[in-house]
Amino acid sequence: MNIILLGPPGAGKGTQAKKLWSDFRLPQISTGDILREEQAKGTDLGKRVKVLMDKAQLVPDEIVIEIVDHRLREPDCKDGFVLDGFPRTIPQAEALDSVLKKTGRKIENVIALDAPEQVIVDRITGRRTCPKDGTIYHVVTHPPIRMGFCDKCNTGLVQRADDSEEKARKRYGDYVTTTARLKPFYSARGIFRQIDGVGTPEGIYVELKRALGKS
Ligand code: AMP
Repeated sequence: MNIILLGPPGAGKGTQAKKLWSDFRLPQISTGDILREEQAKGTDLGKRVKVLMDKAQLVPDEIVIEIVDHRLREPDCKDGFVLDGFPRTIPQAEALDSVLKKTGRKIENVIALDAPEQVIVDRITGRRTCPKDGTIYHVVTHPPIRMGFCDKCNTGLVQRADDSEEKARKRYGDYVTTTARLKPFYSARGIFRQIDGVGTPEGIYVELKRALGKS
């Protein structure tokens, strides 16, 4: 199963990708997570992309294409993978085709998880993350026991620099104007399905598995 999860930031792609990992051992490839790791490690790449990511701007196609090309060569991607946050542009999607073709692979399923702008903004602005173990909370829908601290390791929670309301609206707008163009791109191949990204993670997962023919 070579899968792309499409959807605006905060649509729940990461949560669903983790469920696919638990059930089917499909590795989650999140370009956003990989770029944030580069920043945390203080690499040259991390420093270059920080300015763009903090302003909620897309990083250049060449950078993310190289990252994904490299990651897809890892042995754990041999029997399938879930792309989360990539591709975001038509040139990225075309480059992905070429990268996969080199190893005789192709994308088999593209599932879009959509949700209205205000739902996305509420989810993103309430999101808090543990910088130590990566656990994600929400101040209203999934608060930690002690406000501001991780339940598991007691580390102070942080808000991503691009999770402000203004930047959440910009990222949603970029999805609508740019990334959503991938829907007709993949529909034309008959591999695109749309599911409702509003609901509980468990309910959405049922729909996702149905769309993948795995229910
Ligand atoms: P995400 O975690 O997917 O919301 O990504 C966070 C940020 O990383 C985005 O706002 C972009 O700056 C950058 N980024 C992640 N994936 C891509 C991509 N496929 N193309 C361009 N920029 C990306």
